[in-house]
This record gives sequence, structure tokens and C-alpha cells, in this order.
Amino acid sequence: MTSVSQDKSRPAAPFAFDNSYARLPQQFHAPQTPSTASEPWLIKLNEPLAEELGLDVETLRRDGAAIFSGNLVPEGAEPLAMAYAGHQFGSFVPTLGDGRAILLGEVIDSHGRRRDIQLKGAGQTPFSRRGDGRAALGPVLREYIVSEAMQALGIPTTRALAAVTTGLPVYREDVLPGAVFARVAASHIRVGTFQYFTARGDADAVRQLADYVIDRHYPELKDAGNPYLALYEAICERQAALIARWLHVGFIHGVMNTDNMTISGETIDFGPCAFMDTYDPGTVFSSIDQHGRYAYANQPGIGQWNLARLGETLLPLIDADSEKAVELANTVITGYGERFQGHWLAGMRAKIGLATEEGGDLALVQSLLALMQEGKADFTLTFRRLSDLAGDDGLEGAFAASFENPEAPAAWLADWRARLTREDRSPQERADAMRRVNPAFIPRNHRIEQAITAAVEDADFSLFAALLAVLSKPYEDQPAYAPYADPPQPSERVLQTFCGT
Ligand code: AMP
Ligand code: MG
Repeated sequence: MTSVSQDKSRPAAPFAFDNSYARLPQQFHAPQTPSTASEPWLIKLNEPLAEELGLDVETLRRDGAAIFSGNLVPEGAEPLAMAYAGHQFGSFVPTLGDGRAILLGEVIDSHGRRRDIQLKGAGQTPFSRRGDGRAALGPVLREYIVSEAMQALGIPTTRALAAVTTGLPVYREDVLPGAVFARVAASHIRVGTFQYFTARGDADAVRQLADYVIDRHYPELKDAGNPYLALYEAICERQAALIARWLHVGFIHGVMNTDNMTISGETIDFGPCAFMDTYDPGTVFSSIDQHGRYAYANQPGIGQWNLARLGETLLPLIDADSEKAVELANTVITGYGERFQGHWLAGMRAKIGLATEEGGDLALVQSLLALMQEGKADFTLTFRRLSDLAGDDGLEGAFAASFENPEAPAAWLADWRARLTREDRSPQERADAMRRVNPAFIPRNHRIEQAITAAVEDADFSLFAALLAVLSKPYEDQPAYAPYADPPQPSERVLQTFCGT
């Protein structure tokens, strides 16, 4: 590891910052310089993302350890901690905020989109409460792996720009190596950001925030008849689409508190998140989710609950007449269920290879899921093998082997084939289309754990690198990485995940 200067005044301008959030009124944020690291070391710089953001990659290769550890605040940054509140497991906490994250600033990327660059784990802020503001290496690698996997799967998500170790110990149940995660987001505004101002009776701030959000994320709504109602509807639409995508790949967020739900529609905060291996709608991994509030199949309903909390904050903007406002907001939140169902079913049709719509499709999907649950089938492999089977009748045995009783899916397969005869795609076309929506590779928990253990215990980042490589092309058969498609052996199974805070 190389030691890097802690001189914060050394100029470095790899970022062309344009910090709009810092220009919002003072109650939106607290200025906060990142803490320093003793021996920062750059584990990984996401060079393609850096290029997309228009950053100076050469400088980041040289100074990335210093910049992303917090030792060197780049020119133009206006580091701050954002204020927000949130419902945590259903209980409202009026002040949360960035307790271990510092927004360096915003850049305009090569597509003209404004993106936040944030350091997670760069020390205490006024919102740290009793926390140390630090992050341990394990959760940093986990967020890096899973957020980039989500991106490659085509699911809206915050991104991983870099990971560094700090050289400082972090005290959890054990003493762990400290690290910082550099995160990129369309913005870090959450449902809880609105709640923060509503809880304080700061109606002006709620309006300023809503106007800022429309400007930044939903500019097409500026001229709507009721822009705030339209905003509410648009956010519900993005979240309905997002959560449907999670279900399509077996993703369980794990902590869907209102402070972990973005206004932009990106997945955020990969704490105890996990991908399901064996299909069971009640699956929960998070050690802190004792009642299964955030179980796999509860996610759409929790999304709606969170969005109802958002709606409450927008009521005064939606209509001056509070009864009318409630009525309008209610129509939107009630419509969320249908929106979600539409996205979910469209995706499930694609997963079983349907290009047209028929009334019986939902039942066909549901009966497959019921068989998978009963037969303890691996969620990912079942759909991937079904894709292969769609192109080659000889592969029925491989598909059936996903089920405890390989005879069990025979009747379903007959119904499926009958349904397929009413479409005119060739088997090859159908199989190719299915392989584009049914991944071969997901970030399986046991692989993540193996990568983290090697890094934390032996400073060996080779498994981390291998996982990133295979997960960057999740829809391609990669024979060299075939074992990464496999579910865990019983001894490898990870039953619980931790948020790592
Ligand atoms: P999270 O579970 O990561 O969504 O965080 C929930 C809240 O706890 C946020 O306000 C975080 O900023 C805060 N928090 C989590 N970990 C720490 C930490 N190590 N130090 C200070 N605050 C933290
Ligand atoms: Mg959070």
C-alpha cells in the first residue's frame, strides 16, 4: 500500500463540479469536510463509469486513493451531509441524515445528466448520532459488487465509482479494516428527505424540494396542470417499475425504509440486500428484519406504503383544499397496485418466453411459481434453463432437474408448449429473447461472502475482481465462469446478511 499526502490544499481538478444541492437553503444540508485516512489505497476505480461522468481518469488513477478516502478534497467540491428523516421498520425518525456519507458535489455526465458523487464512510457528520461515520471493507465490497451487478442486469441503480481502504480500523463486533465507497447517483434525494421538512412544518422547504426534484428528475412535468400531483404519479410509476424489476431477478433489498427509497427511481443502499437462491416468496436474509417486513414478496406492498408516506408530504402542494388533496393523492396511490402488476406481469411473460398477451398468462406464471416453491427450485437457474429448453426440446431433463421432483413440472410444460403454439416466433428467436431477460449469473450470496472473506482476511481481491467480471455480462453464457452460475452447496449457504453499519 502506498501512503498518500494528507494535504487537502493540493489542487486536483478531475471533476467539473456544478453543485446545485449546495445552493439550496441551509436547512437542506450541513457543510462537512471528509475525515482523513492514514494509509489510503485504491482497491478499484470504475474507469468506464469515470469516463461516462467526464472525469479525468489519469488524475483519478494517480490521486484516487487520496480523493476517495477523503484526504484530498478535489477543487470545486462543496462537501456536505444531506438532511433527511425516515420511517425505519415502520417507526418515524424525524432526524436521520447522512451520518456516514458526504456528498462531494455533482457533475454533468457525457449524456448531459446531473449525477451526485458521494463518499460513504468518510467520517462523522452532524447527523452521525452515536455512529462513527465509518464503513468496513466488507459492506463496501458488497455494495460495489451488487450495485454494478444491478446495472449490468439493466435495473436502475446507484453506481460504484471507486472503493478504497483507509488503513484505519473500524470497530464493530470485531475490529475490521476501514474503507470508503464512492457512490454515484442520479441524486440522493429520498422519500425521507420530504418527510424531514414536513416533520418540521417547513412548508416552504417542501415546495422548494419538490420544485428542485421536478427540475432535476422530471422536467417534463413543469407544464402539467397540477405539477405536484403529476410528480407524485411519476415517482410512483418509477418505483412500481423498479420493484417489479427486483422481483424478476430475485432481489431482496432488505431495508426498504423510507430513507432508503429514492425519488429518482434508482435502487439505493445495498446493506443486507441479497438475491434469492431457492424460490420462496417469504425469503428474508437481513438479520435485523425479524418479522419479515421486507421479505421478497412483501416488497411491492412496502413500496406502496412508503409512497403513501411520500403522498402525505405532498398534500399541501397538491391542493389548497385538504380534502381534495387527499382525494387526488388517493387515486394515485391506489393506482400504484395496477401499475406494479402491469410491470410485473409484462416481465414475467417475457421470462417464460411470451411475446403476446392472453388472459390465462397470469395463471400460467403463477402455477410455475407455485411448482418452483414446492419443488425448492433455484429461481435463477429455473428460468435460465427454461430459456434453453425453449430453443431445444432435448433440454427438458436439465430444466426438470431444478425441481426436487423432476416429474412435477411435466403438466406445466405441456400447458406452456400449448400456449407457445399460439405465437409465431421461432424456437431460436424465443430462446434468445428469454436469455436476454433471464440471467445466468446473479451476485449469489455465497460468492459475495467468499470474495469479502478473501479480501478482509488475506487482502486478496482476486475473487472480488472475478465476481465483477462475470457479473458484468449476466445474460451471456460464460463457460469459463460456469461454477458462478451454480447455487450454493448446503455448506456454502448464506442464511443471514448484515447491514454492516
Ligand atoms: P442505513 O441503514 O445505511 O440506511 O442508515 C440509516 C441511518 O443510520 C442513516 O442516517 C445513516 O447515515 C446512519 N448510519 C449508518 N451507519 C452509520 C455509521 N457508521 N455512523 C454514523 N451514522 C450511520
Ligand atoms: Mg440509508
